[in-house]
Amino acid sequence: MIQVKNLYKVYKVGDTRVYALGGVDFTIYKGEFCAIVGPSGSGKSTLLNMMAGLEKPSKGEITIAGKHIEKLTENQLVAFRRKHVGFIFQSYNLLQTMNAVENVALPLSFRGVPRKKRNETAVKYIKLVGLEKQMKHMANEMSGGQQQRVGIARALAVDPQIIFADEPTGNLDSKTTKEILGLMRKIVREQNQTLVMVTHDNYIAGFADRQLHIVDGKIFKIEEQHHDDTEEDTENEEER
Ligand code: ATP
Ligand code: MG
Repeated sequence: MIQVKNLYKVYKVGDTRVYALGGVDFTIYKGEFCAIVGPSGSGKSTLLNMMAGLEKPSKGEITIAGKHIEKLTENQLVAFRRKHVGFIFQSYNLLQTMNAVENVALPLSFRGVPRKKRNETAVKYIKLVGLEKQMKHMANEMSGGQQQRVGIARALAVDPQIIFADEPTGNLDSKTTKEILGLMRKIVREQNQTLVMVTHDNYIAGFADRQLHIVDGKIFKIEEQHHDDTEEDTENEEER
């Protein structure tokens, strides 16, 4: 469970103060798929980065699994992220000199997983995201959607409790977007993981169980949605 209380982030730009977040309160429950949705500049990435311990809040509290994230030191944050958190980036961030399986195996090596085991795990997740034919492809030998799938496999393979995704389908066409969001929803449900996804797009946010709408650094609406997690549901998702 992630609890955010009275959270502020103020940036100083020259003589002016920019309130990226102006007092935000909410709870994200274990195992839920939650979207943070709002227009450009509303504070979504700032909020996500603070929950992930990548940025310090100016004021307020973030509690994850009973731990106060805002009070951790830099070293404690690194350990916290390794243990609990997976990231999916808009720009994939794959290593160009490695193939698909090697990219997925890399974070496992940081965690001290032995070579054989990390290769097995990487292959398992690469298959799970439907890339068995591209296993040996280098990053630049894959399409955008395929690279994004590798990014998802890489985040999931370390089996984190929480996955943070910032515009994970930002560069993809609508068909691939639907496939990838359906896939992410299915996998995190099966593994009982919490998925927090940032998007500026209401349609994409509609894939989540709950949507936190953010405008000008404040939550102004929370919406819930029920999804039957069947193949039909994914396929019948309203056409754009
Ligand atoms: P987008 O959809 O365009 O990615 P966002 O909702 O993720 O937007 P943020 O990146 O969280 O928006 O930025 C929120 C506000 O904080 C913006 O007004 C932005 O200009 C400001 N901001 C973000 N980072 C900094 C920084 N390092 N220094 C100063 N201002 C910043
Ligand atoms: Mg952003």
